Amino acid sequence: MKKKQFKAESKKLLDMMIHSIYSNKEIFLRELISNASDAIDKLYYRSLTDKKVKIEKEDFKIMISMDKEKRQLTIEDNGCGMTEQELETNLGTIAESGSLAFKEQQAKGKDVDIIGQFGVGFYSAFMVSDKVTVESKSIDSEKAYRWTSSGADGYAIEECEKEEVGTKIILHIKEDEEEENYSDFLENYRIQAIIRKYSDYIRYPIQMEVEHRHKKEGTENEYESHIETETINSQIPLWKRNKKEIKEEEYHQFYHDKYMDYEDPIRVIHTSVEGQCSYQALLYIPSHASYDYYSKEYEKGLNLYTSGVMIMEKCGDLLPDYFSFVKGLVDTTDLSLNISREMLQQDRHLQIIAKNIEKKIKSELEDMMENDREKYEKFFQAFGMQLKFGIYNNFGMDKEKLQDLILFYSSTEKKMTSFKEYVSRMKEKQEKIYYACGESVAKIDLLPQVEQVKEKGYEILYLTDYVDEFVMQALMTYDGKQFLNVATGDLELDSEEEKEELKKENEKNKKMFEEMEKILDKEVESVRFTNRLKNHPICLTSSGNISLEMEKVINAMPTDEKVKAKTAMEINSHHPIAEKLKKLYKNDKETFDHYTKVLYAQARLIEGLPIENPTEISNLICDALSK
Ligand code: ADP
Repeated sequence: MKKKQFKAESKKLLDMMIHSIYSNKEIFLRELISNASDAIDKLYYRSLTDKKVKIEKEDFKIMISMDKEKRQLTIEDNGCGMTEQELETNLGTIAESGSLAFKEQQAKGKDVDIIGQFGVGFYSAFMVSDKVTVESKSIDSEKAYRWTSSGADGYAIEECEKEEVGTKIILHIKEDEEEENYSDFLENYRIQAIIRKYSDYIRYPIQMEVEHRHKKEGTENEYESHIETETINSQIPLWKRNKKEIKEEEYHQFYHDKYMDYEDPIRVIHTSVEGQCSYQALLYIPSHASYDYYSKEYEKGLNLYTSGVMIMEKCGDLLPDYFSFVKGLVDTTDLSLNISREMLQQDRHLQIIAKNIEKKIKSELEDMMENDREKYEKFFQAFGMQLKFGIYNNFGMDKEKLQDLILFYSSTEKKMTSFKEYVSRMKEKQEKIYYACGESVAKIDLLPQVEQVKEKGYEILYLTDYVDEFVMQALMTYDGKQFLNVATGDLELDSEEEKEELKKENEKNKKMFEEMEKILDKEVESVRFTNRLKNHPICLTSSGNISLEMEKVINAMPTDEKVKAKTAMEINSHHPIAEKLKKLYKNDKETFDHYTKVLYAQARLIEGLPIENPTEISNLICDALSK
């Protein structure tokens, strides 16, 4: 029998397969089953018009069998088959030659994933076999032909015996190697698992002979076995079924099996879109963040199917980063099975689907917020952080899309609230949206700066996450209203008389404040009296872009960047300490010095900031107590 050489491009691809270090070799089966399914599609289509085709639709099937001794795995279909010429052209050359260069380049680099992501068709059989035999009888030919190849040394075609129309592919599985246990592909359970994983939704039955063992009747522990032909794949994908007929448990079961989460998802989204771009999507919002969710290892993406065949396990382009917690899949008929990653990224259909999916997720979250608040708050606890990142990432590009999904604790409602809800409750003359930052709701509630704003009856949002203030800075306004940190300089809450009186007081004591600033050695920009405090004697306020809270966050980061907020020490002008200071300034400079230092340390402690000279301060306090 005369050996023929593969065309140059095909040979390259073949070499890539034979020497593949790609670890996910199991996908060869997906490729061969997919080819078989296509071949059946073709014959079925012909049967609709061609009387010569006698087969009934129910009889179409794909048979898988194995022989451990001969190390053979066989995939057989009763599809259209191939003529001698077709065996020659289809299996001797690769059709999609244009993409080879790209695939090859990918495989040479680290990213050999390309094989798994897109498949390389028939040749992937050589990842697991050292010899491949294809016996085929075409619907258009009387004779059957056998194609054989052991890879690089070429292939041969000869006539053979085959009754039925269709194709039988016999793989001679490689011997085991240190790195790879090829014998696995001769194990019944393993092959079943691979079929379920990748080809569950192939429209035709994929059948195998499965051995069943059971106790022999009337015996204690004698067993007998019988062989049954079983269909391995479910054939109808869950997402292609009518929504109304699917029970919640079924959605959940699918989620557990496929996405390895023992908890039920918090929301299931199942949509089917027909039109310019047709697809089905089955999406899940998990009820908690997986252990690696907020780490670099986490990879976002949806399974991508085309006509029931999975072509990509994690298609990242289908999800924006801020919705990266969503799990699920998309099935569309508009993509070709062997589309490359490069082409996929530019695919217009995929881009449209991604946009639609984003909108859908957003509207579902909004709906949950409105109609199932308890669930939404649980969701927000798990993934709110990601939404906040989304607001300030990319220079706030997506902030408008996300701002209505954010919740903060409200000082008046005593629960989580949205900006929209806050604004709807704003007082008639209120212009700003007030917020305060701190470690916890309880701590913020005790902050002196919060006092005056609460006193005047305004609602304050309590920001307890380290990213929160960055979110406010990215947003700047909501519904035309500015955000204002209650710990910043001027809150403009005083009446004209109050303002005037305070100004006078501050003028009168200017010298004293200058002295205090000197004592504090420029730790603060200024010292002054304030009306903002009710019961507390003192507080720190900040002005400029960096607040005290941000100073803490940025300085705690593992970088060399250290920042300092511009602060002022404000003293309650109605507190007895104000009079005491005035007196000391006049009569007792030394005690005045000590009081200034202690008051400043107090102000820092209230803010949760460290003090640099704790021993000195502690001694000063003790001195004062002993007097
Ligand atoms: P692709 O499926 O992307 O075209 P393959 O390398 O997998 O690339 O297959 C090449 C061609 O061989 C197919 O297009 C098809 O015409 C033919 N072929 C492969 N497997 C079968 C089969 N089981 N029955 C009939 N034709 C087949």
